[in-house]
Amino acid sequence: MSVARPGDHGVGQVPTLRLEGPVIVGDDEVRDGAWVVGGAVTFDEPDAPVDQVLEGVTVPGLVDVHCHVGLDSGGAVEPELALKQALVDRDAGTLLIRDAGSPTDTRFLDGVVEAPRLIRAGRFIARPKRYLRYYAREIEVDDLPRVMAEEARKGDGWVKIIADWIDRDAGDLAPLWPAEVLAEGIAAAHDAGARVTAHTFATESIDPLLDGGIDCLEHGTGMTPAHMERAAAEGIPVVPTMLQIDNFAGFAAQGRARFPAYATRMDAMYERRATHARELWEAGVPLLLGTDAGGTLGHGLLPLEAAALVDAGIPASDVVAMATWRARAFLGVPALEEGASADLVVYARDPREDITELARPQHVVLRGARVAP
Ligand SMILES: [Zn+2]
Repeated sequence: MSVARPGDHGVGQVPTLRLEGPVIVGDDEVRDGAWVVGGAVTFDEPDAPVDQVLEGVTVPGLVDVHCHVGLDSGGAVEPELALKQALVDRDAGTLLIRDAGSPTDTRFLDGVVEAPRLIRAGRFIARPKRYLRYYAREIEVDDLPRVMAEEARKGDGWVKIIADWIDRDAGDLAPLWPAEVLAEGIAAAHDAGARVTAHTFATESIDPLLDGGIDCLEHGTGMTPAHMERAAAEGIPVVPTMLQIDNFAGFAAQGRARFPAYATRMDAMYERRATHARELWEAGVPLLLGTDAGGTLGHGLLPLEAAALVDAGIPASDVVAMATWRARAFLGVPALEEGASADLVVYARDPREDITELARPQHVVLRGARVAP
């Protein structure tokens, strides 16, 4: 594996490329071809000879905003496996990942030029017995603000908390944190320079999260029309994680005997999953794509998540935007602009016309070098 130097696009090591065909740079913004010189995108024809022509429809590298690199069903993993997970995502065209919490220190990946770019959220935060074992940093309620500030300093500008999970005493989903503590925690993370996202299945968590100044919502299955209207007005994105919601029927079945109220609620959310996603979109809530890979779901599934959103009734052109330039803008990472790192994917046909095209990348280019297929 080779190690990247900061700011090094690999001048002299990466070929000069010609991107022949439409280059989709934003909503309704398509350029006619581009070049990659010294690892960076340019729209000015270079003097240097072109080493390779990549023909097709070019989009910015895909973005998975809810992906756990360095996590499997037993918790933390060895560095070799974390790298392997990241490379599976990369080969599917995912070139930027916001990790949604990981128990493994994946900082070493920053030095691996072959690895997709990773924006970390530190370790996710939960309470003992109120989340999956081995995954989270488990703390007492009163420690939330201090721990959120600590995790903010370990990550790359994001903190991830578990906002609700089954409460076995109540036999149903319930918030982990009182609203005041939650608000204090979010403020502490903001003071430490990080944004905050939250795992939430339940309806009861949404108002306290929005009141507390949350920056993004994961899953969001419990959102009511009023919550959707509010998230839309405040510009708070939701990551619907369709592939994960597909598992809700299984969670319900496992819990039915001991926790019937929980099972009924999970089943209802499972039945409504496609309608719910479409309602979020119709309400104007900004949506982003997350596979929730790691733990139970595999890596490299972003094209399937995109297809699931289209199946739910969201136009493919919007889903492509969510998966690329809109996610990049939200995370503060350039898409295909003059001088930006050439992190891009070339398809034979326009994925805005047929979303299944995302599953068939012709060329995956990372930092100006063709890395897959
Ligand atoms: Zn997750």
